[in-house]
Amino acid sequence: MLTIQVDNPVYRFAPSPNGFLHLGHALSALLNHDMATTDHGRFLLRIEDIDLARCTPEFEAAIYRDLAWLGLDWERPVRRQSEHFDAYRAALDRLTDMDLVYPAFLTRSDVKARVAAKEAEGKLWPRDPDGSPLYPEDDRHRSKAERQSLIGSGVKHAFRLDMAKALRLLGRPLSWTETGDGRRGDIPADPSAWGDVILSRSDAPSSYHLSVVVDDAMQGITRVVRGLDLFEATAVHRLLQELLDLPEPVYHHHRLILGPDGRKLSKSEGSTGLAALRNQGLDPTDVRRLVGL
Ligand code: GLU
Repeated sequence: MLTIQVDNPVYRFAPSPNGFLHLGHALSALLNHDMATTDHGRFLLRIEDIDLARCTPEFEAAIYRDLAWLGLDWERPVRRQSEHFDAYRAALDRLTDMDLVYPAFLTRSDVKARVAAKEAEGKLWPRDPDGSPLYPEDDRHRSKAERQSLIGSGVKHAFRLDMAKALRLLGRPLSWTETGDGRRGDIPADPSAWGDVILSRSDAPSSYHLSVVVDDAMQGITRVVRGLDLFEATAVHRLLQELLDLPEPVYHHHRLILGPDGRKLSKSEGSTGLAALRNQGLDPTDVRRLVGL
């Protein structure tokens, strides 16, 4: 019998329940849903709740309420990151076995102090594409014995990717296919701009970067549609996908909805919150118009 290979694109909207959804989320969710419908694809929802301290069941319930109000429907069960810590752990173990991971002991304020000292000398500290300082080199060069003794004495630590080593091991340039509102086509990826990215924290068993690539693979996502604010992070995702032998989705980074101050909307921005708009009597057609769809 002749089998016809049907391309079945899989899309996802992946909000974090650490605040209420606003117009920026509405654009992302509607775009994912519309593209899935046009492509005869699937639309999945993923709750990105690895940050157990900031994510709450109330915000999660509000996500379902707001998306249903927008008229969206998604497959069940919904994937919740907090139920898959073992999968992220397995990915971290695999990178550790490849000798690409090290325990990182500097706290955020240690790094801040280091950067301030350097900048006080009039020197520049290298920063990642989001403007955050790159993690200092110190921990990368510690001996095994020193690491064990620090861990043994209870010093809190995260795990970071040794970026230079990972790139050496990969040994070839990386890129991704982009169809979004910014640069398009075959985009060269430069993960080194992010330095030794964090893979798990002392207070969260996985990082955004690690869990997003594991989840996209496990959910069989073929089309990642998300805001242009994550365009540069895609370089890290492509590197992790290659190191972990995970498939490569096609990416579509869409324009952002900006507030009156010209900045990206934040979750505390009440006036653009979907619940607030609903309470003012707006309907989903108004939301589509407001986000330019
Ligand atoms: N959870 C991320 C956010 O709410 C989105 C991650 C992604 O789409 O890759 O901004």
